[in-house]
Amino acid sequence: MSSKAIYPGTFDPITLGHVNILEKASKLFDTIILAVADYTGKQNLFSLEERERLCAEAVSHLPNVEVATFEGLSVDFARSRDCRVMIRGLRAVSDFEYELSLALTNTKLDPGIETIFLVPSLRYMYLSSSLIRQLAELGSELKDFVPETVAKALLEKLKDG
Ligand code: ADP
Repeated sequence: MSSKAIYPGTFDPITLGHVNILEKASKLFDTIILAVADYTGKQNLFSLEERERLCAEAVSHLPNVEVATFEGLSVDFARSRDCRVMIRGLRAVSDFEYELSLALTNTKLDPGIETIFLVPSLRYMYLSSSLIRQLAELGSELKDFVPETVAKALLEKLKDG
C-alpha cells in the first residue's frame, strides 16, 4: 500500500521553510498533498488562487508533491483524499502550544488521522510567512527566505498597493 500524507496550511506566501519541510516529507511518503486552505481565519495578502500557484511553482522539483486547495476542515479534506497522516512543521517552542491544541482537536474530530511533526533545518527555524510579509514591506532582499517567484510576487503585490 502506498503512503500518503497531507500538509495543510495557509501558505501566505509559501517560504523556504515550508519547502524544506516538504523536501523532508517527500523522502518519507510516496505522495504528499500540499493543501492550501481557503478559510484561514486571517486576512491574507495573497488570494487562494495566487497562493496555490506560488505553491505549485515552489514544489515543481518534487514530483511526489501535489498541490490542492480546500474549503472547510483539514481533517475532512484529508479523509476525502484517503490521507491518514497530517504533517505540520514545528519551529521554536512558540509553535508548540498552538500546534498541540490543533493536533488534539483534529484527533478528536477524526481519530483515524494522525498528526506528525517535522522539524526544519536550522537555517529555516525562524522563518514565517508573517515575517516575510513584513520584510517585503520594508523593502528587504528576500532571496534567502522565499523561492524567486514568491519574491517577485511580493514585489508586485506591494507595488499594486
Ligand atoms: P497555518 O496558518 O495553518 O499555521 P502556515 O502556512 O503558517 O499555516 O504553516 C503551515 C505549517 O508549516 C505549520 O505547521 C507551521 O508551523 C509550519 N511552518 C511554517 N513555517 C515553517 C518553517 N520555517 N519551518 C518549519 N515549519 C514551518
